Formats: sequence, structure tokens, C-alpha cells
Amino acid sequence: MTRQGCTRRKRIYGDRNKMTRIVYLNGEYLPEDKAKVSIFDRGFVMGDAVYEVTAVVGRKLLDFAGHEARLTRSLGEIGIENPFAEGELLAIHRELLARNDIEDGGIYLQVSRGNPGDRDFVFPDPAVVKPTVVLYTQSKPGVLQSESALHGVRVISVPELRWHRRDIKTVQLLYPSMAKMMAKKAHVDDAWFVEDGFVTEGSSNNVYIVKDGVIITRPLSTDILHGITRAALLRYVAETQIAVEERPFTIAEAQAADESFLTSASSFVTPVVEVDGVAVGTGKPGPIAQRLREIYIEEALKAGI
Ligand code: PLP
Repeated sequence: MTRQGCTRRKRIYGDRNKMTRIVYLNGEYLPEDKAKVSIFDRGFVMGDAVYEVTAVVGRKLLDFAGHEARLTRSLGEIGIENPFAEGELLAIHRELLARNDIEDGGIYLQVSRGNPGDRDFVFPDPAVVKPTVVLYTQSKPGVLQSESALHGVRVISVPELRWHRRDIKTVQLLYPSMAKMMAKKAHVDDAWFVEDGFVTEGSSNNVYIVKDGVIITRPLSTDILHGITRAALLRYVAETQIAVEERPFTIAEAQAADESFLTSASSFVTPVVEVDGVAVGTGKPGPIAQRLREIYIEEALKAGI
């Protein structure tokens, strides 16, 4: 190959022979460095956007219908027109998986209120300003074999300082990011938000404790994100003998629990082994959490599309 050909090849495939990622922006499939969004976009200026993350395992999309339904709800709650025709969202997901040859990982999707051409608190007229739609793949080979799943994660508690519509999956993730940084500084894996003495959820996951064989988790309300993994797991658990009690719990209860775990699209079911420096149960991933991870992965893969 000529030197010129080699440089060109590097530019296209990257130094590690990786393909340039192809992303989706407003109807077009583009190399990631060609996908540009305006500095006036309300997602950028106002955090005026919602998002979803759908897991990909063995080239299958997990819980796709749930993520699509929650996206529709989030858009409706903040009054952004749904930009997708029937079946279009799935088609884009599939096209991105194929173009990027993704085996394991996820697809990130964001819809903002668009670019009104200048900064203004007032929403633009939706007949004039269309939403900005972005989707991209994230490759994570071997996503099921994580260290966290094997050893469990350790968490600290932090005050709940987010707004009161946590059921809407907005991109306003500054405080959750700060909470993650507090966890990192404390040399643990994640942070749990506590409000009025009760745990709401993790920085990017729903949380659970197990006491005397019963799974305890906060009920759905505007206090927490309605996790798609949570919904799927509780559906699968309903077919087992394991009981579920939907009620808020405290940090002290978590520390005295037999087991604990968390759920999210990117971590599936992951054991929690320490809360604020206190070991939960044996301090090792518990049997129920491990079993639930197996059940979730098996069933979600079976139902995956
Ligand atoms: N809670 C919060 C605050 C989250 O950010 C997430 C996921 O990002 C979840 C819960 C879990 O939701 P899901 O299972 O739909 O990924």
C-alpha cells in the first residue's frame, strides 16, 4: 500500500484498525466526526432533551419495546413532538448495529427540542423548530462478564438534590455525575440518593434490598426513574416464588439486609455488597441477586430482538 493509502486507511479505520463509528443525526448516517449539532441547540444550552440507553447483547436489543415506550412518555411529559414514525426507531437501531458491527454494548439515543437559532427560555414553535435526533452505538465486548457482577459494587449515600420529575429521563445529569464523582473520591463504585431518610435510587440505577427472602424496592412515582430493567425483572420475578414488597427503605435497613442489588440497562442486575462502609450480608454477592441476574439475562435475551 502506498504511504498515502496507508494514511487514508488510518483516517478511516483508526490506528487500532477500528472502523470509524457511524452515527445517526436527523435522518442521516454519518461518520462520528461529521455529525455536528448547533451551539444553539436546546439540548446543549438548556439541557432540554430526553434520552434512552438500550443494551445490546449478542447482537440483540434488550427490552426495546420498554425503552421505546418510555421515550414516548418522556417526550410527552416535556412537550416535544415524537419525531419517529411507526417502526422507524427500531429500524434506526438495527441499521446502526449493522453499520457498526456491534456484538455487545448499547445504543444511546437523545432527542432535544432542537435549534431555535438563538437562546431563549421560551420553547420554540414546534411547527417551525424540529427536534434534534441523535443515536450512536457504544461497543462493550463481553458486557455480561463484568467485574461488578462478579464481586458486587460498593456504594455511599448522598443527599437527593435532583429535581422532582425523576420519572422523566432528561439529559440533566449534572448532579448524578457529581454523585458519581463523590463515590469515586470515596473509592467506591456508586452513590445512592437519600431523601427524607429514604433511598430514592442510585446515580444511574434502581436499587433493592433483600430481607428474609423478600425483595424490597421503592414503588414507582415521580421520585424515581421507572427503570425498564426494573419492570422486566419484576415481571420475571412474579413467575417465581420470590416475594416483592414495593416500599421505600432506609440506609440502616440496607446495611442490615441479607442482600442488595441494583438494576439498569447497562449493568443488568448487579449485586451491592457495601453501603456507607458497612458490608451487606456476607459482604459478597448474595444468592438471590445472583439468581436474579441469571433470570434477567436469560429471559431478556430470549425476548430480545
Ligand atoms: N434510575 C436512574 C436515575 C437511571 O439513570 C437509570 C438508567 O439510566 C435507571 C434508574 C435504570 O433504568 P433502566 O433500567 O431503564 O436503564
